[in-house]
Amino acid sequence: MIEKITIIGMGLIGSSIAINIQKHKLAKTLVAADISEDVCNKVAELGIANYVTNDLLRSVEGADIVILCVPVGAMGVVSEIIAPNLKEGAIITDTGSVKVAVINVIKQFCPKGVEIVPAHPIAGTEFSGPESGFAELFDGRWCILTPLPETSIKAVEKITHLWEACGSNVDIMNPEHHDLVLGVTSHLPHLIAYTIVGTANDLEDDLKSEVIKYSASGFRDFTRIASSDPTMWRDVFLNNKTAVLDMLQRFTEDLTELQKAIRKGDGDYLYQKFDETRAIRKEIIDLKQDRY
Ligand code: NAP
Repeated sequence: MIEKITIIGMGLIGSSIAINIQKHKLAKTLVAADISEDVCNKVAELGIANYVTNDLLRSVEGADIVILCVPVGAMGVVSEIIAPNLKEGAIITDTGSVKVAVINVIKQFCPKGVEIVPAHPIAGTEFSGPESGFAELFDGRWCILTPLPETSIKAVEKITHLWEACGSNVDIMNPEHHDLVLGVTSHLPHLIAYTIVGTANDLEDDLKSEVIKYSASGFRDFTRIASSDPTMWRDVFLNNKTAVLDMLQRFTEDLTELQKAIRKGDGDYLYQKFDETRAIRKEIIDLKQDRY
């Protein structure tokens, strides 16, 4: 059991971690912090931490582990605020969806004697805020750690244990590779979803109402992804520019090939491509990363 853990940013991810820490008794004291007074009041109401505060600096006093669960674009400002109160030997970790940019800002403010163990739980929903958190969010999902060369094995083990206790499987990767992989599996699909739903939104009114009425034919699945938090996703794209633009370039080239096949009436090409993608779906189900 850890003496004291502080979570900063009590939205979907922060509150789900807090619920798990309480449920599995992973800390003697759990402090929840958020800049928003409303969020703090909600967290206090939910009773998912021992102390709740909007004083970020004081929240980390004496903490053994500090978990940053704020949007990627706020990681730097939060690190700067809390740095003077981080105790020698503390571990600072995060849940940001981008790793290279987040590591750079945390490193900039992290005092000597404090270890950094960056992390990214590959689990989430389109909902945000403390009420959206739940205990099972991380069950059977991967959590990727991207430790720095100077991070001690002991610190990595502590954060690994924390995530395993929350139900996750833990993998280690270098941060650049993380950003490239997530560029394909998460960031590009969100960009495509935002685009498709945006295109529908720009249609003339009568056509738009039919798109909504008959949405179950595919469009509906994109709207779920495209209803994700705009702040979080703005920050992801601004902070993983290189990987996202690289993947977008490849996607555009593949789309052009499909466009060509449709124009030429090349059914064999279309069938072969669609058959290959079906196999990927089966692999995801077999690895228990989706239900059906
Ligand atoms: P969220 O539900 O929007 O929660 C973020 C919380 O941080 C909000 O309560 C927000 O307050 C607060 N916050 C914003 N700026 C802050 C600051 N400067 N200081 C203190 N608190 C601040 O977001 P989330 O979905 O939990 O995501 C949290 C982190 O996990 C992000 O870095 C995201 O990239 C990552 N992540 C998300 C998912 C997902 O599917 N959602 C999955 C994996 C990782 P306000 O509401 O007042 O802005």
